Amino acid sequence: MLEQIRLLVKLQVIDKVLFQLIQEQDEMPGKLAGLSLEEDRLTQALAVAQGELDSVRGQRKGLETDMETIRARVRKAETRLMATKTQREYRAATAEIEEGKDALKGNDDVLLELMERQENLESQVKRLSEQLAVASAQVAGQRQELTSRAQELSTLIQGMTKDRTVLASQVEQSLISEYDFIRKARQGVALSPVKNGTCGVCHIDITPQQFNELQRVDKIMSCPSCKRLIYWADAEALADL
Ligand SMILES: [Zn+2]
Repeated sequence: MLEQIRLLVKLQVIDKVLFQLIQEQDEMPGKLAGLSLEEDRLTQALAVAQGELDSVRGQRKGLETDMETIRARVRKAETRLMATKTQREYRAATAEIEEGKDALKGNDDVLLELMERQENLESQVKRLSEQLAVASAQVAGQRQELTSRAQELSTLIQGMTKDRTVLASQVEQSLISEYDFIRKARQGVALSPVKNGTCGVCHIDITPQQFNELQRVDKIMSCPSCKRLIYWADAEALADL
C-alpha cells in the first residue's frame, strides 16, 4: 500500500499543475477573441463606410455622365436654333434648350449633395483606417504573446499527460479509478495529506479512531468532510514526498 500511496502522491503533484495548465489553455480562445473586439468593430465600421463611399462615387459618376449627355443635347439644340427656318423649328429647339437647362439645374443640386457626402465618407474612411492601424498595432504584441504561450501550454500538457499516464498505469485499477473520479469532481485535487490529524486540503480534524487506522498505512481512506483520498503524511516513509 505504501508504494501505491507514493505513486498517488507523485501523480497528484503532476495533476495539480496539469489542472492549472489545462484551465489556462481553456481560457486562451476567449482571451484571443477579447483581444480582437475593438479591431473587429473598427474593421466592420470601415467596411460599411467604404461600401457607402463606393456607392456614392458610383452615383456621382452616373450623374455626371447623364449631365454630359444633357449638355451635348443642349449644344446640338443651340446649333439647330441658329439654323431654324420656321417658327415651329425655333420653338422646338428653344423648348429643348430650356428643358435641358432645367434638368441640369436640378442635377446640380443632387451633384452637390453627393460631393458633400463623398467628402464626409472619405474623411470617415481615413479616420477609421487610422484607428484600425493603431488598434491592430496595440494587440499584435499581445496576440503574439498569447499565441506563443498557447504553444508552450500545449507542449507542457502533452509532456505531463504522458508522464501521468505512465504513473497511473502503475496504480491498482480500482484505486486509480477512484482517484480519477474524485480528481475530476474536485478541481484536480483527489489526494490530501493528513498532518497532525488534520486534512491538508479541507483542514478538518479527523477522528482519533480514523487517525489510528490511517497510521497503519494498510489501506486507502477518505476524508470524512471533503471525501478526498487521505494518507498519513507524517509517516517516515512518506514524509519526504
Ligand atoms: Zn478533507
